[in-house]
Amino acid sequence: MQMANRRIDRAPGRRQSSRVTPSDLDRLRGGIRDVPDFPKPGIVFKDIVPLLSDPALFRLAIDGLVEAIGSRPVDKIVGIDARGFIFGAAVADRIGAGLIPVRKPGKLPWKTRSAAYTLEYGESVVEIHEDAISPGERVLLVDDLLATGGTSAAALKLTRELGAEIVGALFFIELTFLEGRAALGDDVAVEALIRF
Ligand code: AMP
Repeated sequence: MQMANRRIDRAPGRRQSSRVTPSDLDRLRGGIRDVPDFPKPGIVFKDIVPLLSDPALFRLAIDGLVEAIGSRPVDKIVGIDARGFIFGAAVADRIGAGLIPVRKPGKLPWKTRSAAYTLEYGESVVEIHEDAISPGERVLLVDDLLATGGTSAAALKLTRELGAEIVGALFFIELTFLEGRAALGDDVAVEALIRF
């Protein structure tokens, strides 16, 4: 049976995104729901499910993230477990980059490298496949939200250890009052679409 020719509208290197305006950013904010005291007392959880479930808003969010990358070359996106996969995968597809998952312990099937980091209470660990990145590859970290920066700093450490050149760190939301940027270091270009 002959396969039909498939037209690829979004070829790698042709970055298509509409310009995101200040009123678009207000619309995106409208798709984020505050859930107080989740997952524990005192935390206001930023629930992005309303945004994800609205096709126009989800596309707008990806437009904004792609626009923030601009013309910077990116070979691979490192997406952080689990909501970082949602944004990371969509952005990777749009810009023609690969996607590397950084996961919680015990989830990755191949040989892993891990990094521990401090949480508000206790410690946690993230892992990456040790052959996921080749030395010199240009890598952009993507996650849904930057809080204290501990998770992203650990993911960047792993990425560097594998020899990547860090293009930057890109977040949909930044909780500025937690000053997570400082944890990522002065040499990392940090960008966020929505800041609280
Ligand atoms: P941190 O390591 O403190 O920067 O935490 C970032 C990670 O935890 C991200 O992967 C977020 O998905 C999640 N996270 C932390 N705080 C919140 C919050 N207030 N609302 C939603 N997700 C959060």
